[in-house]
Amino acid sequence: MNREVTSYEGSQPLLSVKDLKTWFPVKRGLFSRQKDYIRAVDGVSLELFPGETLGLVGESGCGKTTLGRTLLGLEPATSGGIYFKNSLLNPMRRKQMNRLRQKIQVVFQDPLSSLNPRMSVMDIVTEGLVQFKRIEGSKRDHARRLIKEVGLSEDAIYRYPHEFSGGQRQRINIARAISLRPEFIICDEAVSALDVSIQAQAINLLISLQERFQLSYLFISHDLSVVSNIADRIAVMYLGQILEKGKTADIIHEPLHPYTKVLIDAVPVPGKERRGESMEIKGEAASIATPPPGCRFNPRCPKAMAVCREIPPPLRRFGDREVRCHLY
Ligand code: SF4
Repeated sequence: MNREVTSYEGSQPLLSVKDLKTWFPVKRGLFSRQKDYIRAVDGVSLELFPGETLGLVGESGCGKTTLGRTLLGLEPATSGGIYFKNSLLNPMRRKQMNRLRQKIQVVFQDPLSSLNPRMSVMDIVTEGLVQFKRIEGSKRDHARRLIKEVGLSEDAIYRYPHEFSGGQRQRINIARAISLRPEFIICDEAVSALDVSIQAQAINLLISLQERFQLSYLFISHDLSVVSNIADRIAVMYLGQILEKGKTADIIHEPLHPYTKVLIDAVPVPGKERRGESMEIKGEAASIATPPPGCRFNPRCPKAMAVCREIPPPLRRFGDREVRCHLY
């Protein structure tokens, strides 16, 4: 089920990321003064529009979670710009960060570890409202409203996280995330720990909340079939870089980049027709600390040419598609 395509042409982006780099220094050896860098995010640019879901897909270790953490201010950016409604966010001051916290929220993968087991659901979902002094009337009423908005019964507010199933706990996380009426939520593998049927319910909940509150999501996942059910557009990430970006239907039905083709061939995507040509990926991804020269995908690419081993391909735009590959 792909979502109805919305055109964002001419709209002002809610979030713009320009040539963002998040590098972590590592020493070359015990006695060496020289440093290498783990280039977890290495020149990423993207835009997110109001009410839009951008899916960010890639294998584990490709840098997608570091990108999300950098957008949240949890990792300092090495260079590049993060703009929220045209205001530059990095480097972020504490006051600015606090203001931003109300506009940008996150839902993490593990619903249990992200909830304090000693806090009642009422305290969990109203924590942000209390912190930012946004409680009007009774805390109980706020908690009841929020918990109903995520499809749980009102009496859940008196219970504790361990009394709920995984899917219900993720609903509590989502209730906390929407409590401050944010504009943008980063969902970092937010449904990956759930069973398939519960995943579908969580995705339907996120879609209905998006429609109700005009939310924008950056939906980070290793699972392309899950992303294709919620994202308007998809960005494919590999070893710190975006390899391909485009509308969900175009990415699923007409992938351009060899890596995207391999990803699509590997997963069952609802509504996907099998493409004539089918490719297999070779070997393991290289380490993000020591990416290969030229195209970072070249050691695994079934279409690699001599130029691919020497010259890094730029991200080229074709209409509303972008692809980083010498074949195009
Ligand atoms: Fe494959 Fe070369 Fe394209 Fe990289 S640039 S994806 S190695 S064809």
